[in-house]
Amino acid sequence: MITGNEFRERLAKLKPNVYMGGKRVDRFDPRLLGGMNVMAATYDFAHDPEFQEVGVAISHLTGDKINRFCHLHQSMEDLIHKQKMTRLYSQEVGGCIQRCMGIDALNGVSIVSYEADQKYGTRYYRNFVDFLKKVQKEDLSLNCAQTDVKGNRPWRPHQQKDPDLYLRVVEKKADGIIVNGAKAHNSCSVYVDEIVAIPTRSLTPEEKDWAVAFSVPSDWEGVTIINASYSPSKRKKLDCPYVNFGASHSITVFDHVFVPWERVFLCGETELAGKLALLFALYHRHSYTGCKAALSEIFTGATALAAEYNGIDKAQHVRHKLAEMIQIVDLIYSSGVAAAVHSVKTPSGTYVPDSNFCNAGRMLAGENIYEEYESLAAIAGGLVATLPSEDDFYNEKTAPYLEKYIMRDPNVSAEHQHRAFRLFQDMMASAWGGHKLVDALHGGGSPVIEKVAIYRDHNIERSKNIAKKLAGIPYQGSTKKLDRKFPWLS
Ligand SMILES: Cc1cc2nc3c(=O)[nH]c(=O)nc-3n(C[C@H](O)[C@H](O)[C@H](O)COP(=O)(O)OP(=O)(O)OC[C@H]3O[C@@H](n4cnc5c(N)ncnc54)[C@H](O)[C@@H]3O)c2cc1C
Repeated sequence: MITGNEFRERLAKLKPNVYMGGKRVDRFDPRLLGGMNVMAATYDFAHDPEFQEVGVAISHLTGDKINRFCHLHQSMEDLIHKQKMTRLYSQEVGGCIQRCMGIDALNGVSIVSYEADQKYGTRYYRNFVDFLKKVQKEDLSLNCAQTDVKGNRPWRPHQQKDPDLYLRVVEKKADGIIVNGAKAHNSCSVYVDEIVAIPTRSLTPEEKDWAVAFSVPSDWEGVTIINASYSPSKRKKLDCPYVNFGASHSITVFDHVFVPWERVFLCGETELAGKLALLFALYHRHSYTGCKAALSEIFTGATALAAEYNGIDKAQHVRHKLAEMIQIVDLIYSSGVAAAVHSVKTPSGTYVPDSNFCNAGRMLAGENIYEEYESLAAIAGGLVATLPSEDDFYNEKTAPYLEKYIMRDPNVSAEHQHRAFRLFQDMMASAWGGHKLVDALHGGGSPVIEKVAIYRDHNIERSKNIAKKLAGIPYQGSTKKLDRKFPWLS
Protein backbone atom coordinates (compact mmCIF):
# COMPACT_ATOMS: atom_id res chain seq x y z
CA MET A 1 0.00 0.00 0.00
CA ILE A 2 1.48 3.33 -1.04
CA THR A 3 1.01 6.75 0.60
CA GLY A 4 -0.65 9.88 -0.78
CA ASN A 5 2.72 11.42 -1.57
CA GLU A 6 3.94 8.33 -3.39
CA PHE A 7 0.72 8.48 -5.40
CA ARG A 8 1.39 12.14 -6.28
CA GLU A 9 4.95 11.25 -7.37
CA ARG A 10 3.51 8.64 -9.74
CA LEU A 11 1.03 11.13 -11.18
CA ALA A 12 3.89 13.55 -11.88
CA LYS A 13 5.27 11.04 -14.40
CA LEU A 14 2.09 11.00 -16.57
CA LYS A 15 2.24 12.54 -20.03
CA PRO A 16 0.26 15.82 -20.39
CA ASN A 17 -3.09 15.11 -22.07
CA VAL A 18 -5.40 17.30 -19.92
CA TYR A 19 -7.16 20.41 -21.29
CA MET A 20 -8.93 23.00 -19.16
CA GLY A 21 -9.98 26.60 -19.74
CA GLY A 22 -8.90 26.44 -23.39
CA LYS A 23 -5.32 25.31 -22.66
CA ARG A 24 -3.36 22.12 -22.14
CA VAL A 25 -2.57 22.06 -18.43
CA ASP A 26 -0.22 20.33 -16.07
CA ARG A 27 -1.75 17.69 -13.76
CA PHE A 28 -0.51 19.83 -10.86
CA ASP A 29 -2.44 22.89 -12.05
CA PRO A 30 -3.76 24.57 -8.83
CA ARG A 31 -7.36 24.00 -9.99
CA LEU A 32 -6.80 20.24 -9.94
CA LEU A 33 -5.19 20.01 -6.52
CA GLY A 34 -8.42 19.91 -4.46
CA GLY A 35 -9.63 16.78 -6.23
CA MET A 36 -6.15 15.27 -6.24
CA ASN A 37 -5.98 15.78 -2.46
CA VAL A 38 -9.12 13.65 -2.09
CA MET A 39 -7.56 10.84 -4.10
CA ALA A 40 -4.29 11.12 -2.14
CA ALA A 41 -6.28 10.96 1.11
CA THR A 42 -7.62 7.51 0.13
CA TYR A 43 -4.00 6.32 0.23
CA ASP A 44 -3.16 7.98 3.55
CA PHE A 45 -6.36 6.84 5.27
CA ALA A 46 -5.33 3.20 4.66
CA HIS A 47 -2.30 3.85 6.90
CA ASP A 48 -4.39 5.46 9.67
CA PRO A 49 -4.77 2.99 12.59
CA GLU A 50 -8.35 4.18 13.15
CA PHE A 51 -9.35 3.20 9.61
CA GLN A 52 -7.61 -0.22 9.47
CA GLU A 53 -10.77 -2.30 9.78
CA VAL A 54 -12.58 -0.59 6.93
CA GLY A 55 -9.72 0.68 4.75
CA VAL A 56 -7.51 -2.40 4.48
CA ALA A 57 -8.47 -5.77 2.99
CA ILE A 58 -6.68 -9.07 2.40
CA SER A 59 -6.28 -9.93 -1.26
CA HIS A 60 -8.02 -13.22 -2.11
CA LEU A 61 -5.44 -13.63 -4.90
CA THR A 62 -2.18 -13.20 -2.95
CA GLY A 63 -3.06 -13.03 0.76
CA ASP A 64 -1.37 -9.61 0.92
CA LYS A 65 -2.74 -6.57 2.74
CA ILE A 66 -4.20 -4.20 0.16
CA ASN A 67 -6.05 -0.90 0.05
CA ARG A 68 -9.76 -1.84 0.08
CA PHE A 69 -10.33 0.21 -3.06
CA CYS A 70 -8.40 -2.53 -4.95
CA HIS A 71 -10.43 -5.43 -3.49
CA LEU A 72 -13.15 -7.73 -4.83
CA HIS A 73 -15.96 -8.32 -2.33
CA GLN A 74 -15.55 -11.87 -1.02
CA SER A 75 -18.33 -11.71 1.56
CA MET A 76 -21.24 -9.74 2.95
CA GLU A 77 -18.83 -8.21 5.48
CA ASP A 78 -16.65 -6.88 2.65
CA LEU A 79 -19.65 -5.01 1.23
CA ILE A 80 -20.45 -3.55 4.64
CA HIS A 81 -16.83 -2.50 5.19
CA LYS A 82 -16.77 -0.84 1.76
CA GLN A 83 -19.95 1.08 2.54
CA LYS A 84 -18.70 2.14 5.98
CA MET A 85 -15.30 3.15 4.55
CA THR A 86 -17.04 5.25 1.88
CA ARG A 87 -19.12 7.03 4.51
CA LEU A 88 -16.25 7.68 6.95
CA TYR A 89 -13.82 8.84 4.26
CA SER A 90 -16.45 11.07 2.61
CA GLN A 91 -17.03 12.76 5.96
CA GLU A 92 -13.30 13.46 6.23
CA VAL A 93 -13.08 15.17 2.83
CA GLY A 94 -16.49 16.88 3.01
CA GLY A 95 -18.00 15.07 0.01
CA CYS A 96 -17.28 12.61 -2.81
CA ILE A 97 -14.38 10.23 -2.14
CA GLN A 98 -14.04 9.59 -5.91
CA ARG A 99 -12.03 6.36 -5.74
CA CYS A 100 -15.19 4.22 -5.36
CA MET A 101 -15.41 4.37 -9.17
CA GLY A 102 -12.50 1.94 -9.32
CA ILE A 103 -13.67 -0.65 -6.82
CA ASP A 104 -17.16 -0.62 -8.35
CA ALA A 105 -15.78 -1.15 -11.86
CA LEU A 106 -13.44 -3.95 -10.73
CA ASN A 107 -16.25 -5.87 -9.03
CA GLY A 108 -18.61 -5.52 -12.00
CA VAL A 109 -15.96 -6.56 -14.55
CA SER A 110 -14.94 -9.58 -12.44
CA ILE A 111 -18.45 -11.06 -12.72
CA VAL A 112 -19.09 -10.56 -16.44
CA SER A 113 -15.59 -11.39 -17.68
CA TYR A 114 -15.80 -14.67 -15.70
CA GLU A 115 -19.18 -15.40 -17.25
CA ALA A 116 -17.87 -14.62 -20.77
CA ASP A 117 -14.99 -17.07 -20.37
CA GLN A 118 -17.35 -19.78 -19.12
CA LYS A 119 -19.83 -19.18 -21.91
CA TYR A 120 -17.65 -18.37 -24.92
CA GLY A 121 -14.20 -19.74 -24.04
CA THR A 122 -12.71 -16.23 -24.21
CA ARG A 123 -9.80 -15.15 -21.99
CA TYR A 124 -11.25 -11.93 -20.59
CA TYR A 125 -11.31 -13.15 -17.00
CA ARG A 126 -7.68 -14.23 -17.19
CA ASN A 127 -6.88 -10.75 -18.60
CA PHE A 128 -8.84 -9.25 -15.75
CA VAL A 129 -7.11 -11.30 -13.03
CA ASP A 130 -3.68 -10.28 -14.39
CA PHE A 131 -4.86 -6.66 -14.40
CA LEU A 132 -6.24 -6.97 -10.86
CA LYS A 133 -2.95 -8.37 -9.58
CA LYS A 134 -1.19 -5.30 -11.00
CA VAL A 135 -3.81 -2.97 -9.49
CA GLN A 136 -3.40 -4.56 -6.06
CA LYS A 137 0.41 -4.77 -6.15
CA GLU A 138 0.93 -1.19 -7.34
CA ASP A 139 -2.09 0.21 -5.45
CA LEU A 140 -3.47 1.79 -8.63
CA SER A 141 -6.34 4.26 -8.65
CA LEU A 142 -9.01 3.80 -11.30
CA ASN A 143 -11.75 5.90 -12.82
CA CYS A 144 -14.80 4.32 -14.46
CA ALA A 145 -15.71 5.74 -17.86
CA GLN A 146 -19.20 4.37 -18.26
CA THR A 147 -21.52 7.20 -19.34
CA ASP A 148 -21.38 7.71 -23.10
CA VAL A 149 -22.10 11.15 -24.54
CA LYS A 150 -25.20 9.39 -26.00
CA GLY A 151 -26.26 11.85 -28.75
CA ASN A 152 -30.02 11.94 -29.35
CA ARG A 153 -31.34 10.24 -26.21
CA PRO A 154 -34.23 8.17 -27.69
CA TRP A 155 -31.97 6.65 -30.38
CA ARG A 156 -30.00 3.48 -29.71
CA PRO A 157 -26.21 3.43 -30.37
CA HIS A 158 -26.59 1.94 -33.85
CA GLN A 159 -29.34 4.46 -34.73
CA GLN A 160 -27.25 7.59 -34.05
CA LYS A 161 -26.25 9.68 -37.08
CA ASP A 162 -22.69 9.57 -35.73
CA PRO A 163 -21.89 6.07 -34.41
CA ASP A 164 -19.07 7.46 -32.23
CA LEU A 165 -21.62 9.02 -29.86
CA TYR A 166 -21.30 5.73 -28.00
CA LEU A 167 -17.71 4.47 -27.59
CA ARG A 168 -17.16 1.60 -30.03
CA VAL A 169 -14.68 -0.80 -31.59
CA VAL A 170 -13.72 0.40 -35.08
CA GLU A 171 -11.12 -2.26 -35.86
CA LYS A 172 -9.98 -5.64 -34.53
CA LYS A 173 -6.34 -6.55 -35.06
CA ALA A 174 -4.18 -9.55 -34.19
CA ASP A 175 -2.68 -7.77 -31.18
CA GLY A 176 -5.61 -5.64 -30.01
CA ILE A 177 -8.57 -3.42 -30.87
CA ILE A 178 -8.99 0.20 -31.95
CA VAL A 179 -11.74 2.14 -30.15
CA ASN A 180 -13.24 5.51 -31.00
CA GLY A 181 -15.69 7.75 -29.13
CA ALA A 182 -15.97 9.74 -25.91
CA LYS A 183 -17.22 9.27 -22.36
CA ALA A 184 -18.98 12.06 -20.44
CA HIS A 185 -18.94 13.28 -16.81
CA ASN A 186 -15.75 11.32 -16.08
CA SER A 187 -14.93 11.99 -12.44
CA CYS A 188 -11.28 11.98 -11.34
CA SER A 189 -9.95 10.92 -14.78
CA VAL A 190 -7.19 13.56 -14.55
CA TYR A 191 -5.62 12.15 -11.41
CA VAL A 192 -5.99 8.39 -11.71
CA ASP A 193 -3.56 5.78 -12.96
CA GLU A 194 -6.02 3.91 -15.18
CA ILE A 195 -9.30 4.60 -16.96
CA VAL A 196 -11.64 1.59 -17.06
CA ALA A 197 -14.16 1.94 -19.90
CA ILE A 198 -17.38 -0.08 -19.80
CA PRO A 199 -20.72 0.09 -21.68
CA THR A 200 -23.40 2.49 -20.53
CA ARG A 201 -26.57 0.55 -21.38
CA SER A 202 -28.09 -2.71 -22.55
CA LEU A 203 -27.34 -3.50 -26.19
CA THR A 204 -29.11 -5.39 -28.97
CA PRO A 205 -27.42 -8.22 -30.95
CA GLU A 206 -26.58 -5.84 -33.85
CA GLU A 207 -24.69 -3.58 -31.42
CA LYS A 208 -21.59 -5.78 -30.97
CA ASP A 209 -19.21 -2.90 -31.77
CA TRP A 210 -20.41 -0.99 -28.71
CA ALA A 211 -20.12 -3.99 -26.37
CA VAL A 212 -16.60 -3.26 -25.19
CA ALA A 213 -14.82 -3.05 -21.84
CA PHE A 214 -11.11 -2.40 -21.25
CA SER A 215 -8.60 -0.43 -19.21
CA VAL A 216 -5.83 1.94 -20.36
CA PRO A 217 -3.48 4.25 -18.47
CA SER A 218 -4.96 7.75 -18.16
CA ASP A 219 -2.20 9.24 -20.37
CA TRP A 220 -2.45 6.53 -23.07
CA GLU A 221 -1.84 7.47 -26.69
CA GLY A 222 -5.04 8.92 -28.22
CA VAL A 223 -6.75 9.70 -24.88
CA THR A 224 -7.58 13.41 -24.38
CA ILE A 225 -9.15 14.63 -21.13
CA ILE A 226 -11.21 17.84 -21.37
CA ASN A 227 -11.70 18.69 -17.74
CA ALA A 228 -13.85 20.84 -15.43
CA SER A 229 -12.73 21.27 -11.82
CA TYR A 230 -14.53 22.48 -8.70
CA SER A 231 -13.31 23.32 -5.21
CA PRO A 232 -14.48 25.66 -2.48
CA SER A 233 -12.55 28.98 -2.73
CA LYS A 234 -9.23 29.11 -0.93
CA ARG A 235 -9.21 31.12 2.29
CA LYS A 236 -6.77 33.92 3.01
CA LYS A 237 -6.92 33.80 6.80
CA LEU A 238 -9.49 31.24 7.91
CA ASP A 239 -8.01 28.12 6.40
CA CYS A 240 -9.98 24.92 7.12
CA PRO A 241 -10.07 21.27 5.96
CA TYR A 242 -13.15 21.78 3.75
CA VAL A 243 -11.37 24.06 1.26
CA ASN A 244 -8.48 21.66 0.69
CA PHE A 245 -10.66 19.25 -1.26
CA GLY A 246 -12.52 19.30 -4.57
CA ALA A 247 -13.54 17.27 -7.60
CA SER A 248 -12.89 17.04 -11.33
CA HIS A 249 -15.01 15.72 -14.17
CA SER A 250 -14.17 15.39 -17.85
CA ILE A 251 -15.22 14.52 -21.32
CA THR A 252 -12.68 11.82 -22.07
CA VAL A 253 -12.02 11.42 -25.79
CA PHE A 254 -10.70 8.14 -27.20
CA ASP A 255 -9.43 9.08 -30.64
CA HIS A 256 -8.69 5.80 -32.43
CA VAL A 257 -7.09 4.37 -29.31
CA PHE A 258 -5.25 1.07 -29.58
CA VAL A 259 -6.03 -1.35 -26.72
CA PRO A 260 -3.89 -4.53 -26.54
CA TRP A 261 -5.96 -7.73 -26.16
CA GLU A 262 -4.55 -8.35 -22.68
CA ARG A 263 -6.30 -5.15 -21.53
CA VAL A 264 -9.69 -6.10 -23.05
CA PHE A 265 -12.39 -7.51 -20.74
CA LEU A 266 -15.32 -7.75 -23.18
CA CYS A 267 -15.57 -7.30 -26.93
CA GLY A 268 -18.79 -8.05 -28.80
CA GLU A 269 -20.77 -10.02 -26.17
CA THR A 270 -23.82 -7.75 -26.21
CA GLU A 271 -25.89 -9.43 -23.50
CA LEU A 272 -22.96 -9.35 -21.09
CA ALA A 273 -22.27 -5.70 -21.95
CA GLY A 274 -25.77 -4.83 -20.75
CA LYS A 275 -25.24 -6.88 -17.60
CA LEU A 276 -21.94 -5.09 -16.91
CA ALA A 277 -23.63 -1.70 -17.33
CA LEU A 278 -26.26 -2.67 -14.74
CA LEU A 279 -23.76 -4.27 -12.38
CA PHE A 280 -21.43 -1.28 -12.26
CA ALA A 281 -24.45 0.97 -11.66
CA LEU A 282 -25.58 -1.32 -8.86
CA TYR A 283 -22.20 -1.36 -7.11
CA HIS A 284 -21.96 2.38 -7.55
CA ARG A 285 -25.39 2.96 -6.04
CA HIS A 286 -24.29 0.81 -3.12
CA SER A 287 -21.29 3.15 -2.73
CA TYR A 288 -23.73 6.07 -2.74
CA THR A 289 -25.47 4.62 0.31
CA GLY A 290 -22.18 5.38 2.06
CA CYS A 291 -21.08 8.70 0.53
CA LYS A 292 -24.54 10.20 0.34
CA ALA A 293 -25.23 9.25 3.96
CA ALA A 294 -22.06 11.23 4.72
CA LEU A 295 -23.12 14.22 2.62
CA SER A 296 -26.57 14.23 4.22
CA GLU A 297 -24.97 14.06 7.66
CA ILE A 298 -22.71 17.00 6.80
CA PHE A 299 -25.84 18.98 5.89
CA THR A 300 -27.53 17.81 9.10
CA GLY A 301 -24.54 18.87 11.17
CA ALA A 302 -24.30 22.23 9.42
CA THR A 303 -28.03 22.86 9.93
CA ALA A 304 -27.77 21.97 13.63
CA LEU A 305 -24.76 24.30 13.98
CA ALA A 306 -26.62 27.13 12.23
CA ALA A 307 -29.56 26.63 14.59
CA GLU A 308 -27.28 26.68 17.64
CA TYR A 309 -25.39 29.82 16.54
CA ASN A 310 -28.65 31.55 15.64
CA GLY A 311 -29.98 30.64 19.11
CA ILE A 312 -32.98 28.75 17.71
CA ASP A 313 -31.87 25.17 18.39
CA LYS A 314 -34.58 24.60 20.99
CA ALA A 315 -37.41 25.70 18.68
CA GLN A 316 -39.80 22.82 17.93
CA HIS A 317 -39.83 23.36 14.15
CA VAL A 318 -36.02 23.24 14.08
CA ARG A 319 -35.91 19.94 15.95
CA HIS A 320 -38.53 18.46 13.62
CA LYS A 321 -36.49 19.58 10.62
CA LEU A 322 -33.33 18.01 12.09
CA ALA A 323 -35.18 14.79 12.92
CA GLU A 324 -36.32 14.57 9.29
CA MET A 325 -32.74 15.05 8.11
CA ILE A 326 -31.39 12.40 10.50
CA GLN A 327 -34.09 10.01 9.31
CA ILE A 328 -32.87 10.40 5.70
CA VAL A 329 -29.24 9.80 6.72
CA ASP A 330 -30.24 6.62 8.55
CA LEU A 331 -32.52 5.34 5.80
CA ILE A 332 -29.91 5.86 3.08
CA TYR A 333 -27.26 4.08 5.13
CA SER A 334 -29.55 1.26 6.23
CA SER A 335 -30.55 0.54 2.63
CA GLY A 336 -26.87 -0.15 1.89
CA VAL A 337 -26.53 -2.39 4.95
CA ALA A 338 -29.69 -4.27 3.94
CA ALA A 339 -28.33 -4.62 0.39
CA ALA A 340 -25.13 -6.13 1.79
CA VAL A 341 -26.99 -8.47 4.16
CA HIS A 342 -29.06 -9.71 1.20
CA SER A 343 -26.04 -9.96 -1.12
CA VAL A 344 -25.39 -13.09 -3.17
CA LYS A 345 -22.22 -14.87 -4.25
CA THR A 346 -21.88 -15.02 -8.03
CA PRO A 347 -20.13 -17.92 -9.83
CA SER A 348 -16.98 -15.75 -10.08
CA GLY A 349 -16.85 -15.63 -6.27
CA THR A 350 -17.61 -11.89 -6.15
CA TYR A 351 -20.51 -10.84 -3.92
CA VAL A 352 -23.16 -8.55 -5.36
CA PRO A 353 -25.55 -6.44 -3.24
CA ASP A 354 -29.33 -6.61 -3.45
CA SER A 355 -30.61 -4.46 -6.30
CA ASN A 356 -33.83 -3.09 -4.84
CA PHE A 357 -32.33 -2.00 -1.54
CA CYS A 358 -29.44 -0.22 -3.32
CA ASN A 359 -31.71 1.53 -5.79
CA ALA A 360 -34.21 2.54 -3.10
CA GLY A 361 -31.41 4.11 -1.03
CA ARG A 362 -29.84 5.91 -3.98
CA MET A 363 -33.20 7.25 -5.16
CA LEU A 364 -34.04 8.54 -1.68
CA ALA A 365 -30.62 10.21 -1.51
CA GLY A 366 -30.91 11.88 -4.93
CA GLU A 367 -34.40 13.19 -4.38
CA ASN A 368 -33.66 14.59 -0.93
CA ILE A 369 -30.60 16.65 -1.76
CA TYR A 370 -32.77 19.66 -2.66
CA GLU A 371 -34.57 19.33 0.69
CA GLU A 372 -31.23 19.35 2.49
CA TYR A 373 -30.12 22.54 0.76
CA GLU A 374 -33.50 24.04 1.62
CA SER A 375 -33.23 23.03 5.30
CA LEU A 376 -29.79 24.57 5.77
CA ALA A 377 -30.82 27.75 3.92
CA ALA A 378 -34.04 28.03 5.94
CA ILE A 379 -32.36 27.63 9.34
CA ALA A 380 -29.13 29.56 8.60
CA GLY A 381 -30.87 32.57 7.03
CA GLY A 382 -29.90 34.89 4.17
CA LEU A 383 -26.36 35.55 5.39
CA VAL A 384 -25.33 32.35 3.60
CA ALA A 385 -25.78 34.24 0.32
CA THR A 386 -24.82 37.77 1.42
CA LEU A 387 -21.80 37.16 3.66
CA PRO A 388 -19.20 39.88 2.95
CA SER A 389 -15.83 38.71 1.66
CA GLU A 390 -13.08 37.47 3.94
CA ASP A 391 -11.06 40.61 3.05
CA ASP A 392 -13.78 42.79 4.56
CA PHE A 393 -13.52 40.86 7.83
CA TYR A 394 -9.84 41.88 8.01
CA ASN A 395 -10.01 45.43 6.59
CA GLU A 396 -9.02 48.03 9.19
CA LYS A 397 -12.18 50.07 8.72
CA THR A 398 -14.78 47.31 8.23
CA ALA A 399 -13.45 44.53 10.51
CA PRO A 400 -14.78 46.07 13.78
CA TYR A 401 -18.23 46.55 12.20
CA LEU A 402 -18.41 42.99 10.88
CA GLU A 403 -17.16 41.45 14.13
CA LYS A 404 -19.78 43.43 16.03
CA TYR A 405 -22.69 42.81 13.67
CA ILE A 406 -22.12 39.13 12.87
CA MET A 407 -22.69 38.33 16.56
CA ARG A 408 -25.58 36.08 17.52
CA ASP A 409 -25.13 33.86 20.60
CA PRO A 410 -22.72 35.95 22.76
CA ASN A 411 -21.01 32.74 23.93
CA VAL A 412 -19.78 32.05 20.40
CA SER A 413 -16.86 34.18 19.17
CA ALA A 414 -17.17 36.37 16.08
CA GLU A 415 -14.51 34.25 14.38
CA HIS A 416 -16.46 31.04 14.92
CA GLN A 417 -19.67 32.66 13.65
CA HIS A 418 -17.72 33.81 10.61
CA ARG A 419 -16.15 30.38 10.05
CA ALA A 420 -19.53 28.63 10.27
CA PHE A 421 -21.28 30.93 7.80
CA ARG A 422 -18.28 30.79 5.44
CA LEU A 423 -18.66 26.99 5.44
CA PHE A 424 -22.41 27.23 4.75
CA GLN A 425 -21.69 29.64 1.89
CA ASP A 426 -19.09 27.25 0.41
CA MET A 427 -21.58 24.39 0.72
CA MET A 428 -24.47 26.17 -1.01
CA ALA A 429 -23.91 29.66 -2.43
CA SER A 430 -20.83 28.92 -4.55
CA ALA A 431 -19.86 27.28 -7.83
CA TRP A 432 -18.74 24.27 -5.76
CA GLY A 433 -22.10 24.07 -3.97
CA GLY A 434 -24.07 24.39 -7.22
CA HIS A 435 -22.05 21.62 -8.82
CA LYS A 436 -22.66 19.35 -5.79
CA LEU A 437 -26.39 19.88 -6.17
CA VAL A 438 -26.38 18.30 -9.65
CA ASP A 439 -23.76 15.72 -8.70
CA ALA A 440 -25.88 14.42 -5.82
CA LEU A 441 -28.93 14.09 -8.07
CA HIS A 442 -27.40 12.48 -11.19
CA GLY A 443 -24.13 10.85 -10.08
CA GLY A 444 -24.56 7.07 -10.11
CA GLY A 445 -27.74 7.45 -12.17
CA SER A 446 -30.71 9.80 -12.23
CA PRO A 447 -33.62 9.00 -9.84
CA VAL A 448 -35.81 8.08 -12.84
CA ILE A 449 -33.33 5.33 -13.78
CA GLU A 450 -33.45 4.03 -10.22
CA LYS A 451 -37.25 3.89 -10.48
CA VAL A 452 -36.88 1.76 -13.62
CA ALA A 453 -34.54 -0.60 -11.75
CA ILE A 454 -36.76 -0.73 -8.66
CA TYR A 455 -39.83 -1.68 -10.71
CA ARG A 456 -37.84 -4.17 -12.82
CA ASP A 457 -36.31 -6.00 -9.87
CA HIS A 458 -39.28 -6.07 -7.51
CA ASN A 459 -41.58 -9.10 -7.70
CA ILE A 460 -44.75 -7.13 -8.31
CA GLU A 461 -46.77 -10.33 -8.90
CA ARG A 462 -46.03 -11.37 -5.33
CA SER A 463 -47.21 -7.95 -4.10
CA LYS A 464 -50.42 -8.37 -6.09
CA ASN A 465 -50.86 -11.86 -4.68
CA ILE A 466 -50.76 -10.45 -1.15
CA ALA A 467 -53.55 -8.05 -2.09
CA LYS A 468 -55.48 -10.86 -3.80
CA LYS A 469 -55.09 -13.08 -0.76
CA LEU A 470 -56.43 -10.36 1.55
CA ALA A 471 -59.32 -9.72 -0.83
CA GLY A 472 -60.18 -13.41 -1.11
CA ILE A 473 -59.20 -13.63 -4.81
CA PRO A 474 -57.45 -16.84 -5.98
CA TYR A 475 -53.75 -16.49 -6.93
CA GLN A 476 -50.83 -18.67 -8.05
CA GLY A 477 -47.80 -19.39 -5.87
CA SER A 478 -46.91 -18.69 -2.25
CA THR A 479 -46.57 -15.44 -0.35
CA LYS A 480 -45.17 -17.02 2.79
CA LYS A 481 -41.52 -16.20 2.10
CA LEU A 482 -39.89 -12.79 1.65
CA ASP A 483 -38.45 -13.05 -1.80
CA ARG A 484 -35.72 -11.11 -3.58
CA LYS A 485 -34.88 -11.34 -7.29
CA PHE A 486 -31.26 -12.25 -8.09
CA PRO A 487 -30.79 -11.48 -11.78
CA TRP A 488 -26.98 -11.75 -11.34
CA LEU A 489 -26.96 -15.50 -10.85
CA SER A 490 -28.39 -16.42 -14.25
C1 LIG B 1 -20.90 15.24 -11.05
C2 LIG B 1 -21.13 13.98 -11.83
C3 LIG B 1 -20.13 13.01 -11.84
C4 LIG B 1 -20.29 11.85 -12.59
N1 LIG B 1 -19.26 10.94 -12.68
C5 LIG B 1 -19.33 9.91 -13.55
C6 LIG B 1 -18.20 9.06 -13.79
O1 LIG B 1 -17.14 9.21 -13.20
N2 LIG B 1 -18.33 8.06 -14.70
C7 LIG B 1 -19.47 7.85 -15.38
O2 LIG B 1 -19.52 6.93 -16.18
N3 LIG B 1 -20.55 8.64 -15.20
C8 LIG B 1 -20.50 9.67 -14.30
N4 LIG B 1 -21.59 10.49 -14.11
C9 LIG B 1 -22.74 10.30 -15.00
C10 LIG B 1 -24.07 9.97 -14.37
O3 LIG B 1 -24.20 8.62 -14.15
C11 LIG B 1 -25.11 10.52 -15.39
O4 LIG B 1 -25.13 11.93 -15.24
C12 LIG B 1 -26.47 9.96 -15.22
O5 LIG B 1 -26.48 8.58 -15.52
C13 LIG B 1 -27.45 10.66 -16.16
O6 LIG B 1 -26.97 10.65 -17.48
P1 LIG B 1 -26.82 12.01 -18.30
O7 LIG B 1 -26.17 13.02 -17.42
O8 LIG B 1 -26.17 11.72 -19.59
O9 LIG B 1 -28.28 12.53 -18.49
P2 LIG B 1 -29.30 12.16 -19.64
O10 LIG B 1 -29.20 10.71 -19.97
O11 LIG B 1 -29.15 13.13 -20.74
O12 LIG B 1 -30.66 12.38 -18.90
C14 LIG B 1 -31.35 13.63 -18.86
C15 LIG B 1 -32.81 13.32 -18.69
O13 LIG B 1 -33.27 12.66 -19.87
C16 LIG B 1 -33.95 11.46 -19.53
N5 LIG B 1 -33.73 10.50 -20.62
C17 LIG B 1 -32.54 10.02 -21.04
N6 LIG B 1 -32.74 9.14 -22.06
C18 LIG B 1 -34.05 9.09 -22.27
C19 LIG B 1 -34.89 8.37 -23.19
N7 LIG B 1 -34.38 7.52 -24.07
N8 LIG B 1 -36.20 8.58 -23.12
C20 LIG B 1 -36.76 9.42 -22.21
N9 LIG B 1 -36.02 10.13 -21.32
C21 LIG B 1 -34.69 9.96 -21.34
C22 LIG B 1 -33.31 11.03 -18.22
O14 LIG B 1 -34.14 10.17 -17.48
C23 LIG B 1 -33.09 12.37 -17.53
O15 LIG B 1 -34.27 12.77 -16.88
C24 LIG B 1 -21.48 11.65 -13.32
C25 LIG B 1 -22.49 12.62 -13.28
C26 LIG B 1 -22.32 13.76 -12.55
C27 LIG B 1 -23.43 14.79 -12.55
